[in-house]
Amino acid sequence: GVRHFRAASLLSRKVMERDPWLMRGGGQVRVSHSSLNYKDGLVILGRPGVVKDWPIVPGIDFAGTVVESKSPKFKPGDAVVHTGWGVGERRWGGMAGLASSRGSWLVPLPAGMTPERAMAIGTAGFTAMLCVQALEDAGVTPEWAGGAPVLVTGASGGVGSVAVALLAARGFTVVASTGRPELEGYLRGLGAAEVVGRAGLADEAAHRALDKETYAAAVDTVGGLTLTTAITRTRYGGAVAACGLAGGGDVPRLTVFPLILRNVRLLGVDSVMAVPPLRARAWDGLACLLSPAALESLTQVVPLDQVPPLAADIIDGKVRGRVVVAL
Ligand code: NDP
Repeated sequence: GVRHFRAASLLSRKVMERDPWLMRGGGQVRVSHSSLNYKDGLVILGRPGVVKDWPIVPGIDFAGTVVESKSPKFKPGDAVVHTGWGVGERRWGGMAGLASSRGSWLVPLPAGMTPERAMAIGTAGFTAMLCVQALEDAGVTPEWAGGAPVLVTGASGGVGSVAVALLAARGFTVVASTGRPELEGYLRGLGAAEVVGRAGLADEAAHRALDKETYAAAVDTVGGLTLTTAITRTRYGGAVAACGLAGGGDVPRLTVFPLILRNVRLLGVDSVMAVPPLRARAWDGLACLLSPAALESLTQVVPLDQVPPLAADIIDGKVRGRVVVAL
């Protein structure tokens, strides 16, 4: 995977020269920053499930400046951000000097947001915002919650860290679940009111089809029994936004009881194919809600050659917050 990563990054300029997207109303972006997401870790390590055709340039997101555009929506010099749409999976990605995109896939950088900040948010932070929007669209507002806590699982990771900061900024009481108790200070700094151990959410012996109504809602990045428990502990009328599988792709021992007796909604969240209006709304929300100080506290910026070892770390659950890759 690492070998492919290096070779593909070197080859990217050649591919741009025969870029079919550009011919179809797309554009080329000079990438200043990309970021490292869980999926990038899988790709860079050569794990199955994400990429079908090797070699690939990894990087499921990027930010930078348009250098060439056949789309009427963008002109050279415009600052843009791209997440998802199969880039870094089925199409060559953002960890390169140049990347291509379509006009309808790019989002103009919100006023005042730098490309580095946009990638500190990146796919992970964008997904966290989609989760918060999904909860609010389901009626789970701070007013409705009335102080009852919202659970965030995998809280020290990229999606989790931004979700904690966003929910706290929106006025929710946040409970952060983590397997790294040493990061309690970090999570409280992002706005968590309480930090709980991840083991308590994945305890087979303690599992009940309907557990104590503890949380108004949850943002789950972990999946597996953790997701089941988040659902069984959500109070009447609440919702759980599920976006990840860091702990497993199944939802074991879930019954319909929380759904049909407590009216709990399970909300699936996908960032890759999210429609443009949802994207614009999410980036506006991120620009408004996330303070530069909070974002800085959860971000490290690294050069490209530090990405392969960090890819192994993100899959092992050892990365804290977000990793920006400076191109
Ligand atoms: P990270 O690796 O940064 O975060 C995942 C976190 O999950 C870890 O930091 C850790 O948090 C926790 N974790 C890791 N392994 C386990 C485990 N075995 N059991 C329980 N908890 C674990 O990844 P991201 O935040 O970038 O992504 C999180 C998930 O969301 C991934 O599955 C990713 O594929 C998915 N995702 C989905 C998107 C979508 O569009 N639906 C978009 C982006 C991401 P802690 O140490 O605090 O417990």
